[in-house]
Amino acid sequence: MAGQGDATTGGKPKVVIVGGGFAGLFAARALRRSPVSVTLVDRSEHHLFQPLLYQCATGILSEGQIALPLRSLMRKHRNIEFTLAEVTGFNVEERYVIAGLPGGRTIHLPYDHLIVAAGVRQSYFGHDEFAAYAPGMKTLTDALAIRQRVFGAFEMAESTADPEERARWLTFAMVGAGPTGVELAGQIRELATTTLRKEYRNINPQDARVILFDGGSEPLAAFGPKLAAKAKSSLDKLGVELVMNTVVTDVSVRGLLAKGHDGTVVHHSAATVLWTAGVEAPPLASMLAKASGAGQDRAGRIEVGPDLSIAGFPEVMVVGDLMSLDKLPGLAEVAMQSGHYAGVRIRKLSKGEAAPAKPFKYHDLGSAAYIARGKAVVKAGPLNLSGLLGWVAWIFIHIGFLTGFRNRVTALLTWVIALSSGIRRERVYTVEQINRLSEVYSGHFAEPLDGHERQSQDR
Ligand SMILES: Cc1cc2nc3c(=O)[nH]c(=O)nc-3n(C[C@H](O)[C@H](O)[C@H](O)COP(=O)(O)OP(=O)(O)OC[C@H]3O[C@@H](n4cnc5c(N)ncnc54)[C@H](O)[C@@H]3O)c2cc1C
Repeated sequence: MAGQGDATTGGKPKVVIVGGGFAGLFAARALRRSPVSVTLVDRSEHHLFQPLLYQCATGILSEGQIALPLRSLMRKHRNIEFTLAEVTGFNVEERYVIAGLPGGRTIHLPYDHLIVAAGVRQSYFGHDEFAAYAPGMKTLTDALAIRQRVFGAFEMAESTADPEERARWLTFAMVGAGPTGVELAGQIRELATTTLRKEYRNINPQDARVILFDGGSEPLAAFGPKLAAKAKSSLDKLGVELVMNTVVTDVSVRGLLAKGHDGTVVHHSAATVLWTAGVEAPPLASMLAKASGAGQDRAGRIEVGPDLSIAGFPEVMVVGDLMSLDKLPGLAEVAMQSGHYAGVRIRKLSKGEAAPAKPFKYHDLGSAAYIARGKAVVKAGPLNLSGLLGWVAWIFIHIGFLTGFRNRVTALLTWVIALSSGIRRERVYTVEQINRLSEVYSGHFAEPLDGHERQSQDR
């Protein structure tokens, strides 16, 4: 199956990698000294370290500290070219990828080997209309928008005279108590009780309510009952209100409706609702499935074989969050290891060696979630860490994995400053931006509740 390439690549096989996230980056790195010509395509110019998005959204880290330009990351690898473009389709019979360049021109990128590493997107479980009121957090744009909403809410509370409206601006609701919901909830509460504590004169930021909703019985359920209980206790101490065993059934400009296991529906008023529950494959996955006949799981991810290729097309591999294999979780480490495997497989094939005989095997290095200063949970095999020990382990893990030496050093320095002083400097906004937020929301606060909301008790 060794590819042929053509005159433009000096006969070297052409590899196209779609997506420069963890999976795409590790695939590209595995191919950097191989006799292949690689085109890495991404619709963003940066590789994003998603696990620290919440720190960018809450003013600790800057966008540059969690996002690195892909062109710069690839600059030393002469056989790799980065193309900024949005992939919009595949022709797997004729082996090319269709992509839109900045400016609107469409190009075809021919390949001998294709690696699709396009990740997943936020899922609203069939209610995409919630997105207008409850943004998710998957991209840098999302994190920056959330940052404006969170800091903007405190400014709006400071400038309004109406106590009811002020309370609404000071209420933050998070839907989904997995790592992202817990991390965001913890950070907003810490922001209110530490960073902003002395910065306002009309409001007491510590009055801010942070409410975390989840259909399960405990936060961070995936970490097991012991660590989930520790996380619950840390969140309680921090003042995060946990509303468990509850499904959010509607989100509007005024807040959300939450249905408990006993069927009771309660309306919770909140100016800021953030969606931190669930992911699904993007439409690109269905395009690939349609073009190739590949199967998709319930979340739309592409089913792959043990060598990460799709049935009938050994030259097409799907890696990272977008692949469906053995119920592997959507974790950075899975993405890195699968991307690396795909790169090595192509390297061997391009050298005329047999493909790696061994199927892809994920080595579980564990997972971690940050709750607040001095509190994190880490699960690695039989090892369960929480509290200060978990937090120290969390710092080492994240510094170790953060892409780029400069980012590691500056993130560590920023954490030392932010954690010792409580100061968060990454929060530039203007009155114009906050006005846009208030235009959307303020008028609606005065509107009467609709039928559903009226029937339920307004909190
Ligand atoms: C808020 C948050 C916190 C997380 N925390 C943790 C954590 O603590 N630990 C952990 O292990 N994991 C964590 N994860 C999960 C982890 O980040 C993902 O598993 C990992 O990023 C998946 O890597 P990937 O390369 O498959 O996809 P991604 O990192 O999502 O990369 C996909 C890339 O494809 C590009 N792309 C998508 N569509 C197109 C297109 N049509 N054309 C061109 N380019 C396209 C995107 O721009 C992106 O660069 C977190 C995720 C989020 C969102």
